[in-house]
Amino acid sequence: MGHTRLDTVGRRLLVLAALLLASICVHAAPPAYVLGGAPTSDTTPMRSCEPDVLSTLEQVEIPAPAGGWSGTPQAISVFNVFAGEVMVGLGDRVVCGRMHDARTRDSRFRSGVGLVVVPPAGTRDPVRVGWTPPVKQHWIPTIRIGGPSPVQQEDTLRLVVRTACLAIALALAFSALMGFIGARDRMFLVHAAMCVCLMLWQATLNGLTGYPRPWLPVGDSEPWWQVAFTAFGFAALLYGLWSQSGIVGRWPRLRLAVRWGVRLLVGVGLLVPLLPHAALRPVWWLLDLVFLVSVIGLTAVAVLSILRGDRRACAALAAAAPILALCLPARSVGQWAMEFRVELVQLGLTWFLIVMAYTLTSHFGQLRAQRDGMRQLADTDPLTGLPNRRAGLARLERCYAAARRSGAPLSVGFIDVDLFKRINDTHGHETGDRVLVAVGEALLTEVRHRNDVVRMGGEEFLVLLPGVDAAGARTRLEAMRLRIADAGKAVGADALQITASIGAATLTAGDDDPVALLRRADDAMYRAKHAGRNRVVDDRTQAATVTA
Ligand code: GH3
Ligand code: MG
Ligand code: MG
Repeated sequence: MGHTRLDTVGRRLLVLAALLLASICVHAAPPAYVLGGAPTSDTTPMRSCEPDVLSTLEQVEIPAPAGGWSGTPQAISVFNVFAGEVMVGLGDRVVCGRMHDARTRDSRFRSGVGLVVVPPAGTRDPVRVGWTPPVKQHWIPTIRIGGPSPVQQEDTLRLVVRTACLAIALALAFSALMGFIGARDRMFLVHAAMCVCLMLWQATLNGLTGYPRPWLPVGDSEPWWQVAFTAFGFAALLYGLWSQSGIVGRWPRLRLAVRWGVRLLVGVGLLVPLLPHAALRPVWWLLDLVFLVSVIGLTAVAVLSILRGDRRACAALAAAAPILALCLPARSVGQWAMEFRVELVQLGLTWFLIVMAYTLTSHFGQLRAQRDGMRQLADTDPLTGLPNRRAGLARLERCYAAARRSGAPLSVGFIDVDLFKRINDTHGHETGDRVLVAVGEALLTEVRHRNDVVRMGGEEFLVLLPGVDAAGARTRLEAMRLRIADAGKAVGADALQITASIGAATLTAGDDDPVALLRRADDAMYRAKHAGRNRVVDDRTQAATVTA
């Protein structure tokens, strides 16, 4: 009693609190405006250059147009400097910034380090650009100059591509993680790790580790991070290509080689932080070489697999195609390939992750289909195609629970073919088999659901009649008995007399489980046998009253 009153009071208080909250939300006047941040006395958001840094930079001068500057604003932006300082200057304005620290850069440029300046008309000062010498020789800085609007729009486009690729990798990692939680399969976890690894690799290349503020402790050690994540990224790419390409089973020895290759790459990645700066260039060169050889080798293996009729390798080829294209020297493709190198690499990696996610999903689709097929096999009687004892008992359990919930009646019939041994002995085992199939089909004509007829074993069948009361069950089972008598014709032996003894039982309020129901039907069937076979006897009929 006390509990009930407390519950009621608690519920009323909750309703009251909800109403109060709702009225506050509705009636509270919204502010006229929201002000964030604070005024600043900082004249420029950009960092000026330290003289000792300037002396370490590789510098170029881009001359003013013939006839001097026109006096209109100029935007100058420098992309693809992956590590160290970038300097941009025109006349007195000289600024420095870093790819991996967005706070050091003009907020109008997010993908590169840039400057907007208005050179006085007629002046001929050159644009000065400097950058820390790259670790990789073919990382060529890209300088973009023009009106502020087009230069900034291009910068925004790059930023969108770069962040979108990171977001896709992150989303795929999350969905793989969800897949792992659902399916508990290691492959999902491996895929999630691959997505995270390739996402971090992209971030160390495109400088987004410093955007909007540094979230990875890259600091001044960009080259080390980049080499380490290149090694991890290559390992992830090789593993992904190999494991999900469907070529694993074909060449077991290659599998061992790839495994060791992946381990080597991960080991190199872990060792990189200990290396001196001078060692980074050769290590990177070596990584590129190992990766190029491996990808070309794997592609060749995938082509061979396809030629031999294994279509699964198509996914590996599709995933590797953009990566292979990126291995081509950018200069041979065109200037745009150099200008948009980072974006192209990111799009290639995103494509790879999407194809891998697709192969993972389709692989699991196949596994699920196989599992369903095996479950079907385990639950089906191979001779008659009916549910077997195991599946039948499970269905009886479900029918029992549903009947208890809804209060609807539930009846069952236990059917045993009479003198079946004699049919076997006289007409042969094969005819006996055909009789069993014919009996199963005869029973099926009188039920609504295919799963309601079960072969319990030998020449014994169980019929489930959910929603049918005792009188209805008797009528249905009687009809089945008559149909069984015609089964001889179906077998093609008209002279064959097929009869069955049937025990019926209906669920009562006293039944604690479906086994009691089954036992009563079985008992009734034995009483039918003792009474002379070929009849239906229900559980309410006493043994003495069963007549021959
Ligand atoms: P009753 O009327 O008392 O039930 O007699 P019965 O001969 O039907 O009963 P019994 O249990 O003596 O014999 C059942 C026979 O069913 C024995 C077994 O060889 C045969 N049998 C069991 N499974 C199969 C099967 O899959 N195919 C065939 N052809 N015969 C089977
Ligand atoms: Mg029997
Ligand atoms: Mg029998």
